[in-house]
Amino acid sequence: MPQTHLIAANWKMNGVKASLPIARTIAEQSRGLQARVALFPPATLLPLMADVLQGTDIVLGGQDCHHADSGAYTGDISAPMLKDAGASMVILGHSERRHGHLEPCALVARKSLAALRAGLEPIICIGETLDQRQAGLTIPVLSRQLADSVTSDLKGQAFHVSYEPVWAIGTGLVASDAQILEAFALIREHLDKHFGTNAPQVLYGGSVKASNAAHLLALEGVGGALVGGASLTVEDFMPIIRAAD
Ligand code: PEP
Repeated sequence: MPQTHLIAANWKMNGVKASLPIARTIAEQSRGLQARVALFPPATLLPLMADVLQGTDIVLGGQDCHHADSGAYTGDISAPMLKDAGASMVILGHSERRHGHLEPCALVARKSLAALRAGLEPIICIGETLDQRQAGLTIPVLSRQLADSVTSDLKGQAFHVSYEPVWAIGTGLVASDAQILEAFALIREHLDKHFGTNAPQVLYGGSVKASNAAHLLALEGVGGALVGGASLTVEDFMPIIRAAD
């Protein structure tokens, strides 16, 4: 039986209380559709959005978490705090964290364990930069990210991996079918080797939108999409959710 697609909305640093009706409408319009839909609003909106989404099938998640459960880490948010705020998933290792906040793979791995301790399902992102791709380093870069941030400590746990070429995020550029299939084959090999039959779902992220979603989701092995810009409005996001049907 084909796996249900996971369609994840990464709102990044966008959204205030006035944005809550977007979540409500997405929940209403997603009722009866096949996809598993997850919204990742800024942390400030989590408890309010949890109220709005109560009784719906929409899953809520955080955009990052600290590796420690609590402590003297000014400005950070822990996995238990996300859980307490209504989240059941968390995005980790997003390129905007890896590059904007210089987060190494080992830290992403520690954060994943913190997420699992708190009962959150991590979506662990990996992806190469344009310079790395042009230098012919895509496969070694992805292999290192898989080895160091998707470690066998996750065995038996519920988690996902998202392939997000950094050059495709927010740029309007989409990886070609061949580029996606090559990356997915590598990811699958790593997951099959370390996680066997319980190998997790693999998503694609990078300028997914209404016009390309059905095509991308139909590619062999693509278990869903992580969507940034096109997840911010009902008009842009709903066609992507419907494309997973
Ligand atoms: C993302 O933020 O993970 C992403 C893929 O963004 P966009 O869809 O805007 O490229």
